[in-house]
Amino acid sequence: MLHNKACVLVIEDDPRILRLEQMVLEKEGYTVLTSLTAEEALETLAEISPSLIVLDVGLPGMDGFAACYQIREVSQVPIIMVTGRDFNEDKIKGLEIGADDYITKPFSPNELAARVKAALRRSAMSTGVIEPTVQIGDLFVDFISNRVMLANREVLLSDTEYRLLCYLARNAGRIVTRDQILERIWGEEYSGEDHLLHVTIGRLRLKLEDPARKPKYIITRRGIGYSFPIEDEYVGYGSRLA
Ligand code: CA
Repeated sequence: MLHNKACVLVIEDDPRILRLEQMVLEKEGYTVLTSLTAEEALETLAEISPSLIVLDVGLPGMDGFAACYQIREVSQVPIIMVTGRDFNEDKIKGLEIGADDYITKPFSPNELAARVKAALRRSAMSTGVIEPTVQIGDLFVDFISNRVMLANREVLLSDTEYRLLCYLARNAGRIVTRDQILERIWGEEYSGEDHLLHVTIGRLRLKLEDPARKPKYIITRRGIGYSFPIEDEYVGYGSRLA
């Protein structure tokens, strides 16, 4: 597989966690570079372009947020932030300054491997041309004719519902925060209007989801925002949800 030759830069100040991350990722076949500080990592980045960065939030000196911000000024490389367990604000902040995903400490080796693999896969897909359609499960979105089909029947959406669905579908596989959605769909002055978003998500789900089941297209990321699944993550109403 292409991504197995990818180079991953891991930035973590705890040497035990760093070693664990390195072991897990090397076992997956990646080349792993490590840094104990953000400053050292930025020096590395001046010379080498990794395929992905795993970035701890709590670092001595420059913290993970500042590092993420600096990296984003010069690079689109996928960044997975590593945050503490109960710090939703950290997760939101990371996503809003350009991280692609987050992973919460303590994490399992499998979780780390899965997140890295998914982020590399999205990155490989997004380097191509923008797809004119998205199809997942029974849902089909045609961005050219602006039509949404569910099990081969057209779904009529309001303009706002359609733009909201497109925004989530265009960001499939990654979490978008509530404020990111509000600002994109309604405008910057709507930041914080969670109720508006909640109601619109509810209307969209009424049209797309089975009300008796857990949503499978518009997934709630509790305390953070929403996501739309990519194929790997899509869970239909099969046994996995039972
Ligand atoms: Ca740390």
